[in-house]
Amino acid sequence: MTHSFDTVIIGAGAAGLFCAGVAGQLGLKVLLLDHSEKVAEKIRISGGGRANFTNRDVTPANFSGENPHFCRSALARYTPRDFTALMERYRIPFHEKHKGQLFCDHSAEDLIQMLLAECAAGGVQRWQPCSIKSIRSPGAAGASCYELDSDRGIIAARSIVVATGGLSIPKIGATDFAYRVARQFGLRVVQPRPALVPLTFDGAGWAPYAQLAGLSLPVQISTGSKKAQTTFLEDLLFTHRGLSGPAVLQISSYWAAGAPIRLNLAPGHDVAQALTRAKTSSRKRIANELAALVPSRLAEAWVQQDSRWQRPVSDAPDKALMLLAERLARWELTPTGTEGYKKAEVTAGGVDTRDLSSQTMESKQPGLYFIGEAVDVTGWLGGYNFQWAWASAFACAQALANG
Ligand code: FAD
Repeated sequence: MTHSFDTVIIGAGAAGLFCAGVAGQLGLKVLLLDHSEKVAEKIRISGGGRANFTNRDVTPANFSGENPHFCRSALARYTPRDFTALMERYRIPFHEKHKGQLFCDHSAEDLIQMLLAECAAGGVQRWQPCSIKSIRSPGAAGASCYELDSDRGIIAARSIVVATGGLSIPKIGATDFAYRVARQFGLRVVQPRPALVPLTFDGAGWAPYAQLAGLSLPVQISTGSKKAQTTFLEDLLFTHRGLSGPAVLQISSYWAAGAPIRLNLAPGHDVAQALTRAKTSSRKRIANELAALVPSRLAEAWVQQDSRWQRPVSDAPDKALMLLAERLARWELTPTGTEGYKKAEVTAGGVDTRDLSSQTMESKQPGLYFIGEAVDVTGWLGGYNFQWAWASAFACAQALANG
């Protein structure tokens, strides 16, 4: 038996659920399916269970991808204010943490229930678990629309929306489905890679810093060439295998394998001036003076690098103090890798935006759409990735209804 719909949306995560609700309410007969039993597992675990569902201040500058302008149109047509208005209609309480980040007061489950209610309001049919084995395009074997072989029978639809996300966190159902479908229809895919992910360093080279695991401090972090440098001012976290915390997660989306990252471990302090001043008035060890500017565990570990730094500040040559200040302000190190998709919050890369319309999310293959994280648009940490999911889903749903 063939099941017929106007549109079938594959992937019931953030983008798929939202797109289904909007398209259904615009009058389309929508099927939303997911290979997992539960919908929206990533929303459930996001933001420590409270979902950082958007950010008050969203601009295209908060996103990366081969074409950084691609996200502009969709973001302008569905804003954070639109989403918070929806939350308010459902009386879901939320609050701002810092840097404009909006979180649910109670639980991400509130958000999921809202998206499901929106789907119900649009008469959306949901099938889970349900897997797609193959897709035939209109025209193939005489078909007048898309035909999908699913484990619940054949599905016929005028359009397909692929909302299966990226490769992060395979244990909750991430797959490369979107990239496979794109390739099947001759669309390009920008090499996917883990992003918003901790960075790792070589065992031996990292040994002196491994003892700092658990230490957190505000830093300035950057990567890239002088001309195309990306910089963030965020908290850094030392781990046993490398570096993490918001600073490193942010920079990881811009880091190219083999390239160095640069850290200022005492941003906002003139370490050279503080130490040379202390030299004339203090009898303390350099590490103790440094501990006024950075956490004492870091100060102690830092001075171990040079014997000239392991003495009272008054005995230290100016040159040694200058070198210490410079190293602290410009610690350059080259990660050996990342913690991979197991720990990555998102996947950078994805379906190439050159083969998609930024107005509609339709691909060069008519009737085939890609939304959310499957697309080569990656947001910063701080609610931007969900905002992209909502905005791209909204643009797509509008186009489906107008098509
Ligand atoms: P997803 O939400 O990943 O949904 C994809 C859906 O497709 C899933 O339900 C999956 O089961 C289904 N699927 C996959 N393959 C198939 C297949 N072959 N067949 C059928 N179905 C399939 N972003 C924020 O903005 N704020 C946050 O606080 C935040 N916290 C995060 C915390 C963690 C731990 C992680 C991993 C991510 C977090 N993110 C956060 C990122 C955010 O969750 C994603 O960017 C967002 O969920 C992407 O939405 P999506 O709908 O494109 O994909």
